Amino acid sequence: MNGAPLFIRLKSAAPLRSLRATFLGHDVAFTSDASNQTWSALAGVSLKTSPGTYAVEFTAEKAKGEPLIFSRSVTVKAGHYRTVALSVARKFTEPSPADLEAIKQEEALKKDVFAKVNPDREWSGGFRPPIAAPDVRISDQFGTQRKFNGKVQSVHQGLDYAVPQGTTILAANSGTVVLAEPLFFEGNCVMIDHGQGLMTLYMHLSELKVKDGEHVQRGQPIGLSGATGRATGAHLHIAVRWQGTYLDPATLFALPLPADK
Ligand SMILES: [Zn+2]
Repeated sequence: MNGAPLFIRLKSAAPLRSLRATFLGHDVAFTSDASNQTWSALAGVSLKTSPGTYAVEFTAEKAKGEPLIFSRSVTVKAGHYRTVALSVARKFTEPSPADLEAIKQEEALKKDVFAKVNPDREWSGGFRPPIAAPDVRISDQFGTQRKFNGKVQSVHQGLDYAVPQGTTILAANSGTVVLAEPLFFEGNCVMIDHGQGLMTLYMHLSELKVKDGEHVQRGQPIGLSGATGRATGAHLHIAVRWQGTYLDPATLFALPLPADK
């Protein structure tokens, strides 16, 4: 579906020196196992991608001879996304000149963080929901069309969990913390780089429990939930970003992913 992450695994009869692929205009970063015969990568389809069939174009380099060029097709279906109206403090829909200045600086900071994505794989095994309670309610899905205070239109680029203030938030997978600080819209925010262009973002936290540059393991506490930034109340917003495209976290959590490479 549009908005969904995608796992690609290739098995080769002979070892490969390298494997590259392009998909929907992105370069896909593969990592291999020790034999160089099994290669895998995470990719995704943006919300803006129209339903249709798209090619993944592979280029495989063997030990000798010409590279092998081949493709496989992926069919993208239309996701069904809702529309909702929300109200938030007025400063979030009509920011003051000082707020606008802070927003501008944070845009530059985020652009820097997003530009430094690590192509090597740090994730291992499936991505897990960031809340330990098994029956936690989802208060808003990914892809919802939202209107804030009857004015500002935006698409919900993550998944909201209805958890009370102070709930422990867990890292969805292993990775490196690339940002842990308060931001205007996101509130107290943690961003984890899992490698291969994939990041998870945790927003509106009341407390941060990790620092920039820190390595985290899947399931490690990274903060406490809250209502900081543009939030209608206490909840956790988690977002999944692949090479600049936001993807549905619920689909990522349901993807069976290997622990090995
Ligand atoms: Zn949200």
